[in-house]
Amino acid sequence: MFRFIGIGLLVIAVTHAVRAEDAVVENVVFAIHGGIGLDKVEMTPEIDKRVRTELEQTLRAGFAALNKPNATGLDAVEAAIRLMEDSPQFNAGRGAVFTHDGRNELDASIMEGKTLKAGSVAGVSTVKNPITAARAVMEKSKHVLLVSRGAEAFAAEKGLEIVDPKYFRTEERWQQLQKQLEEEKKRSNVATGGSPVVVDARLLPGFSFGTVGAVALDKAGNLSAGTSTGGMSNKRWGRVGDSPIIGAGTYADNEACAVSATGHGEYFIRYSVAHDIVALMKYKELAVNAAADEVIRKKLKAAGGEGGVICLDHRGRFYPSYNTEGMYRGCITRDGQVQVRIFEQ
Ligand code: ASP
Repeated sequence: MFRFIGIGLLVIAVTHAVRAEDAVVENVVFAIHGGIGLDKVEMTPEIDKRVRTELEQTLRAGFAALNKPNATGLDAVEAAIRLMEDSPQFNAGRGAVFTHDGRNELDASIMEGKTLKAGSVAGVSTVKNPITAARAVMEKSKHVLLVSRGAEAFAAEKGLEIVDPKYFRTEERWQQLQKQLEEEKKRSNVATGGSPVVVDARLLPGFSFGTVGAVALDKAGNLSAGTSTGGMSNKRWGRVGDSPIIGAGTYADNEACAVSATGHGEYFIRYSVAHDIVALMKYKELAVNAAADEVIRKKLKAAGGEGGVICLDHRGRFYPSYNTEGMYRGCITRDGQVQVRIFEQ
């Protein structure tokens, strides 16, 4: 009996290993994600088409930026993330989710794998492109992470585009918050006779993540990674997730890989997800797919942390790992072949 279970497990393990290996795309120079997205049952052909088109356009724009003379991977990461921040489809920049108090508070980070230099901003409400502010923190300050009003003052001082906070508002995200608030109220009345109950946004119909990220391998062989988000809908008290935390939501190291994450940020912070993947590659010599699956599909899943990562190693091997139904993502190879995926491996 145990032998059969053993053989069964072996078959499952081998099947999984083969699947993970198959999902590695070779010769990739640039890749993006647009968050965890909807469950399969909520996906409509229209949304599917819209997301795929936007991902493909963004990939091509990032690729064009990467191929400009003297361009670095950072240029491609920044250019692609700016596009997604400007698009209302994603939970980053315009179209970001709302906080409990009805504000848009944005987080972003960027990292260079050659130097391990990094920059991030958290909780900004007036900086049009938080990824550009993150890059300015990396290149034009002595710091790594600037928050809230200080980060906004820094961005203004460096001449970045500043907008009215209303710029980020979309009706769809506003309605999403209203639904959450209503649900919260209902549950608190029933459960506690009045005291507030925090409702997990992921349990609500129509909830989508939609954080964005990019990873690049440039002609000089340098890796870079970046991530941008509005965080989690209905967040409170100045909550900051993993996206602007170097080592949690973003990491790049030329000796291993570049990582951008999306998912339930508290888990990604506690498990130092992005750096853990890099560490497994460096210290245990795991391949990029094995390292990513170890963290995302084993550790994080067991802990109940939903989400995923895109990883690109120094040899141009791209691998997305996620423990949810799907993840909006795509990659482009050195010779310009585009691949976009949502639910399929
Ligand atoms: N990781 C982000 C956060 O927790 C959310 C997301 O990826 O959608 O703020």
